[in-house]
Amino acid sequence: MIPISNPRSQLIPIEAEILSAIKDVLQSGNYILGENVSTLEAEIAKKLQVSECIAVANGTDALTLALHACGIGEGDEVITTTFSFFATAEAISRVGAKVIFIDVDEKTFNLDHNKILENITTATKAIIPVHLFGQPANMNEINKIASEHNLRVIEDACQAFGAMYQGKPVGSLGDVACFSFFPTKNLSTIGDGGIITTSDPTIAKRIRSLRAHGSKKKYFHDEIGYNSRLDEIHAAIIRICLEHIDDWNEKRKSLAARYNKKLKDIHIIKTPFASNQSTHVYHLYCLESEYREKIIEELYKQNIQTGIYYPCSIHLQKAYKHLAYQVGDFPIAESLSKKLFAIPLYPALSYKDQDKVINALKTIKVCHS
Ligand SMILES: *Cc1c(COP(=O)(O)O)cnc(C)c1O
Repeated sequence: MIPISNPRSQLIPIEAEILSAIKDVLQSGNYILGENVSTLEAEIAKKLQVSECIAVANGTDALTLALHACGIGEGDEVITTTFSFFATAEAISRVGAKVIFIDVDEKTFNLDHNKILENITTATKAIIPVHLFGQPANMNEINKIASEHNLRVIEDACQAFGAMYQGKPVGSLGDVACFSFFPTKNLSTIGDGGIITTSDPTIAKRIRSLRAHGSKKKYFHDEIGYNSRLDEIHAAIIRICLEHIDDWNEKRKSLAARYNKKLKDIHIIKTPFASNQSTHVYHLYCLESEYREKIIEELYKQNIQTGIYYPCSIHLQKAYKHLAYQVGDFPIAESLSKKLFAIPLYPALSYKDQDKVINALKTIKVCHS
C-alpha cells in the first residue's frame, strides 16, 4: 500500500541521530523542561522571526493556552472556520468561549475573510484562521479587520510549519500562533508535542505560567493552569528534525508541482490552488472530485491509500448540536466535505510510487449520470 503520509520514512534515515539524542536525555537525568526544550524554543523563535516561543504538550493545548493567555473565556466569542480539524473549535469551547463558525474560500479552503465582518458582535474577542493543508490564510485582510475591531488573531498553524506569507513565516503573522508536532505534521516527533509563538512578552509570560499549573515560582500558584509541557525526549527529536524541515518541505513542494503538472488534464479531478502570495507546504495534497467515492475505491484496489479531510464540517458535528447550526449554513465547506480527498504525498515518496498514483488516476473511468 502507498500511504497518504509516512512519518517513519523520514525518520528512519536519521535513526542513529535520534537514538543517540534519546540516550543523551536518558543519561542527563533531566526529563522535563530542560535544555532541549529551551534550546528548541530559541531555535524556533529565531527561525519563525518571533521573540517568544513556548513548547507545550500538543497542538490542541497550544490553542487552548493561547486563548486563555489572551484572556478569552466565558461570555466571549471567537470566529473561526468550520472546515478544519475539530481541535480548532474544541480549544475555543474548552476555555468557555462561544465558537462562531464561518464558511471558507472555495479555492484555498481557508476561512473566507469576507464573512468575518457580519459575524462580529460586542462579544467577539478573536479570530482563529487555520492555514489549512499547509497553505497560509489571507492574513492581510484578517489582520486588517482584527485591528479595526480590536480583536486578537491566533494562527492555527498546526499544518503549516515552514510556510511563508508575503515573505514572512507563518507563526509570525498574528498575535499568537500554534503548532503541533503530531507524527504526521510536516515538523513532528514520535509522539505528541506542540509549540506557541508570539512576539508579545506579556502573553508569553502568561503561557509559561499556565503550562506549569499557573506557577512562576515552584509551589506558588497565581492562577488555575494546566500541566502541558513538551518532554525533553520529544524536544531533542524535534531539534534534529528542525535541521531537515526546509529540505522536507521542498520535497513536498516539488512532488506537489509534479502532481499538479501531470494531473491537470484529467477532467474528473481538480488539482489544488496555490496562491502566489505565499508558499504552500502541502501537509496534505487534496484533489476535488464529484466522483470521489468511485476514485477512492479504484485507488484502493491498486493499493493506493487516500484520506478524506474532512468528511464533516465542524458546525455539523454532534458535539456542536447545541449551537443549532443547520445543513446548508456553510455550503462551500459542506460541498468540500463531499468532494475533497488526499492522495499520497510525503518527503520520501519516490517518483516511481508517485507515478503509480498518477497512472491509476489517469485510467479511472466514471459513468456520467
Ligand atoms: C493537528 C491539528 C491540531 C491539533 O494538534 P494536536 O497536536 O493533535 O493536538 C489543531 N489544528 C489543526 C488544524 C491540526 O491539523
